[in-house]
This record gives sequence, structure tokens and C-alpha cells, in this order.
Amino acid sequence: MQELMKGKRGLIMGIANDHSIAWGMAKTLHAHGAELAFTFQGEALGKRVKPLAEQLGVELVLPCDVEDIASVDATFDVLREKWSRLDFVIHAIGFADKNELKGRYADTSRENFSRTMVISCFSFTEVAKRAAEQMPQGGSMITLTYGASMRAMPNYNVMGVAKAALEASVRYLAADFGPRGIRVNAISAGPVRTLAGSGIGEARAMFAFQQKHSPLRRGVTLDELGGSALYLLSDLSGGVTGEIHYVDSGYNIVLMPKPEDL
Ligand code: NAD
Repeated sequence: MQELMKGKRGLIMGIANDHSIAWGMAKTLHAHGAELAFTFQGEALGKRVKPLAEQLGVELVLPCDVEDIASVDATFDVLREKWSRLDFVIHAIGFADKNELKGRYADTSRENFSRTMVISCFSFTEVAKRAAEQMPQGGSMITLTYGASMRAMPNYNVMGVAKAALEASVRYLAADFGPRGIRVNAISAGPVRTLAGSGIGEARAMFAFQQKHSPLRRGVTLDELGGSALYLLSDLSGGVTGEIHYVDSGYNIVLMPKPEDL
């Protein structure tokens, strides 16, 4: 296998278990020779993430809750101490109160709106700023988004609004860091059965509908998401920044399903 990531070091944030999108990406990047560091949110998830890290020989496995800025700073302090530079970052973090991932968007509470925005959107800006300081030779960062940022989707509610803001922040960060050779992009993934994905009201119906009506007539795999991350984080995508790259079996291009499929 060609080692597209040989000599590159990257931080992966957002592995919860072996179903996580970030885990699929970690496996692909590792297979292509990247040296990795992982973060995990809280000790309960740490118990799941540490054995996964061992599988890939990842030694830097750090606690980080992005709601606590001191914990984000501590993560980057350790990275600075252990590694001379950083080449890439994956931010695969999202959260909204499950009680508001159903019903009407109009009923979103102020508290949950703010918390969702901080964790699911602003944390990428805070991470990107700190990561860029450790990328003197340029680098590449990606975050994870979903097509309900562009269109109204039942139950996705405040998360759709946060993803819209996240996508806008990808463009602003790409403009800020581009002159330093740092690229910033997002992958807009089709539905995947993960811990976060299953928190959305009527998730099963959403998965089934998108699989049935996407041009490829199927969902996407962790390996496929890993392949797209490899493209965006490696030199293969050297001229690409500020993009929202859809990996969704083509679902986003469909305005109406074929009448025979209704
Ligand atoms: P997941 O549950 O495996 O991962 C979500 C991660 O967010 C977890 O590791 C969790 O610990 C982390 N997180 C939440 N709050 C945090 C906090 N305060 N501090 C640090 N970490 C925190 O689910 P996933 O589906 O792999 O989600 C990864 C990303 O992909 C999310 O941004 C999600 O919105 C996005 N996404 C998921 C799908 C899908 O269908 N699963 C589709 C498109 C986009």
C-alpha cells in the first residue's frame, strides 16, 4: 500500500467507540503511515478508546472535553511538548440535548442552543486556532458535517443550525489560515449508525429513506469516509480548501426521489 501519510502526525478528536466515524478515519490514516494522537471525552469513553488506540499503536491518548477550554489547552500543551509539529487534525465532535433532537426546531431552548453551538461548532474554531500554531510547515484540518445544514430535516433541529454555522466557519478558517499553507475542509457524511447518529429522533427512518433515495441506493461505510479523509488530509488534495465535500452516496443532489421509488 502506498504510504500517503508517512512522516505526518495528526490529532484525531471524537472517537467514542469502534462505530465512530473518527475511528474509521484513524484506521485508514494509520494504514497509510500516519502517526496519530487521540482524545477522548471523559473516563467512561476512555475505557473504550484506549484499547482502540492500542490496536493502532497510538501512544498519545488524552482526555479532552471541548466544553472546558482548559482541557483543550492542556491537549495542545502536551502535543507541543511531545511533537515538534502537527500536520493534520480531525474534529469529529457533535452534541445536542437528545430531548431537542425530536419535535420542532422552534421549541429549542436558549440553553441547549448555546451548548450545541459551543460543542458542535465553536470548538472547531478553538481547536483550529491552537492547531495552526503548531503547523509551521502548513497542514490540513477537517471537521464533520451533515446535509441538514442546507435543508430542513425532521428532528435534526438545532444540530442543523449548528452544522450550517460550522460550514461557514470552515470557509472563514480556510481564509484565515490559507496564507500559511493550512487547509480547512469539511466532510458532509451520509447517515452512519453511531452513538451520536442514534440520538436523533426516528434515526432508523432517516437512514432507510436516504439509502433508498440516494443515487447509489445505499449508505456509506467507515472505510469510504476514511478514504475521503485520507484525500483531504494528504497532499493529494493540495489545492483544496474551504470545501464541504459530500460523502453521502450522492443523496445531496436529489431534489425529489424518482416517482417509481415513492
Ligand atoms: P460518535 O458518537 O461516535 O462521535 C461523536 C463524538 O463527539 C464522541 O466521540 C463524543 O465523545 C464527542 N463529543 C461530544 N461532546 C463532546 C465534548 N464536549 N468534548 C469532546 N468530545 C465531545 O458519532 P459520529 O457519528 O461518529 O460523530 C462524529 C461527527 O460526525 C459529529 O460531528 C457528527 O455530527 C458528524 N456526523 C455524523 C453523521 C452520522 O450519521 N453518524 C452524519 C454526518 C455527520
